Amino acid sequence: MIEVRNLVKKYGTHTAVDHLDFKIEPGRIYGFLGPNGAGKSTTMNIMTGYLGATEGEVIIDGHDILKEPEEAKRHIGYLPEQPPLYMDMTVREYLKFAAELKGIPGKKREQEITEVEKMVRIHEVRNRLIKNLSKGYRQRVGLAQAVLGFPEIIILDEPSVGLDPKQIIEIRELIRGLAKRHTVILSSHILAEIREVCDYILIISKGRLVASDTPENLEKKLGEHNAVEIETEASPSEIRTILKPVPGIERIETRSSGGKLTQGRIMEKKGEDVRERVFRAFASAKVPLLTLKASDTTLEDVFMELTQNDKVPDAFTDKKEWEEVGSDAGDL
Ligand code: ADP
Ligand code: MG
Repeated sequence: MIEVRNLVKKYGTHTAVDHLDFKIEPGRIYGFLGPNGAGKSTTMNIMTGYLGATEGEVIIDGHDILKEPEEAKRHIGYLPEQPPLYMDMTVREYLKFAAELKGIPGKKREQEITEVEKMVRIHEVRNRLIKNLSKGYRQRVGLAQAVLGFPEIIILDEPSVGLDPKQIIEIRELIRGLAKRHTVILSSHILAEIREVCDYILIISKGRLVASDTPENLEKKLGEHNAVEIETEASPSEIRTILKPVPGIERIETRSSGGKLTQGRIMEKKGEDVRERVFRAFASAKVPLLTLKASDTTLEDVFMELTQNDKVPDAFTDKKEWEEVGSDAGDL
């Protein structure tokens, strides 16, 4: 349905999109996940014909977005990061204008606009000026514009940025509803959002596609390295000393959990289970372990691992508190 081949976008010497290759098949909700600056918006702008690529091509239902833009664009509805709203128009005036641009025939226009207004629940504000609407309602107007004409593919760039929690839940419901009739691609730097809504994830880091699969498979594939969580009154440096002779440990992270407690995450080498050795090491040092349990790899770990060198996105700031106390078993 969409084929992106060898896509490259350079801004001067900076490569924002670095040889992206992927396919979008009908009937799924795809999520572009990546930290800010990863190249999500640039990719979406190229896919929708708003921006030219430096190299590569985008084929939409057999039409090259550059060579046959009209044909290709007919299959796509797009909500860019900054929705192109006209503040001095009413919702209805704006949607009429958008319907005209999309070439929706005059007879069908009124009826279709009403249908879309009802669908995204803006029918009751249709005669209000856009500038007088809240951010949440404006976002829905942008969404209505993308849905008009009922294109097969709907592309939404960070659709919930700037919305409050209630509005976020509403927009997610709308997106799920859309997916019944459309293929939806949405971007976000927030993992929880992508996990919640999407059934296929493309993780982008520094303009590259670093992983693409279903959420379950991503967890499985990268879940071979497991971790053990511990809690103890020992300090990070004591933990390091105690665990130094224990084989099978890849790396240790610690954080203080308030009071005298230190929480530790012990990353195991592939295929190792170090729980018993960790227990014995603490016992022989006569330091009580208050918690010792296996922790499964979460999608969050996968995302962190794959985008490690990037800026840590807002949604993961809690992870920043983890401090690595040894990068390999040798120097623990
Ligand atoms: P994302 O949407 O994932 O946050 P963007 O596609 O907006 O990422 O940006 C990718 C990279 O390209 C960033 O480093 C950004 O600074 C850079 N970039 C984006 N737009 C421009 C532009 N018009 N000129 C120069 N650099 C840009
Ligand atoms: Mg963006």
